[in-house]
Amino acid sequence: MVGYADGHCDTIVRLWEKNQELFSNDGHIDIVRLNKFSAPLQFFAIWLDSKYHPISMRQAMKYIEFYYSQLQKNSRVIGHINSFTDVIKNRLENKISALLALEGGEALEGEISAIHTYYRLGVRSITLTWNHRNRLADGVAEEESRGGLTRFGRQVIEEMEELGMLVDVSHLSESGFSDVVKFAKKPFIASHSNARAICDMPRNLKDNQLLKIAEKGGVVGLNLYSPFIVKYGQGGIDDILSHIQHMLSVMGEDFIALGTDFDGIHSTPKEISGVQDMDLLFISIENEFGKVVAEKIFSENLLRVLKEVL
Ligand SMILES: [Zn+2]
Repeated sequence: MVGYADGHCDTIVRLWEKNQELFSNDGHIDIVRLNKFSAPLQFFAIWLDSKYHPISMRQAMKYIEFYYSQLQKNSRVIGHINSFTDVIKNRLENKISALLALEGGEALEGEISAIHTYYRLGVRSITLTWNHRNRLADGVAEEESRGGLTRFGRQVIEEMEELGMLVDVSHLSESGFSDVVKFAKKPFIASHSNARAICDMPRNLKDNQLLKIAEKGGVVGLNLYSPFIVKYGQGGIDDILSHIQHMLSVMGEDFIALGTDFDGIHSTPKEISGVQDMDLLFISIENEFGKVVAEKIFSENLLRVLKEVL
């Protein structure tokens, strides 16, 4: 069986909205289908729609409660991880590993001590911004401002690194990205972004950004949202391979991971309609670039970063 580690999905928010179950549902990800892989690791992001921004923390609490209630219901087959040791423990017990992440620093509501509270609640990764401006930094949709990290944003990164949380730069503006490169002392990730040289979208990363992440020892997670893979049409596995090919040429094989964005996207590559089809991507990567590269992309690279940072 193939190892699997996915750095981003929106499953928790989707299930909460639709009142569905993590064990089995009609979205992209559930426990039944994750178990197709060996010792899978899934990041579960809590994304806060702008309508919740005045009450970001309150809404985040609802999602976190829902996350843990779903894990509790399925505690024989899935376990929350706080550290890399927990990943190993879950693997030995044949359980799926679940990592809790926040997508958007709005959830802090400008309160630095909230970082510690979220850490205690088991959050181990924070995407600093979504597309827009928040108290930490500007997102990609604010590019004209040339705004980067605020003082608060820098403070957040410092606290996160001190505690052992992953800093995630997906959705961040270019200036914000450069600031993170300047201030981050540990590897950081772009959990769900592709190569801009292959698909020219603001959410994808330029070559110099890919290189910086590699130099810092982080990873870039391949996003399966069609518009981030190909400029026109739905795209397919071949198009994902083009991104991988390019990323390999810029970064080498140790810095590419998965960041599917499953359950947060409405269009996926034609051969992949959920996690159950991801073995097709593995086989294609294996055929094109070899087994070692496929295993690194599918799990080993992200696990290395978790081991180093958490
Ligand atoms: Zn996102």
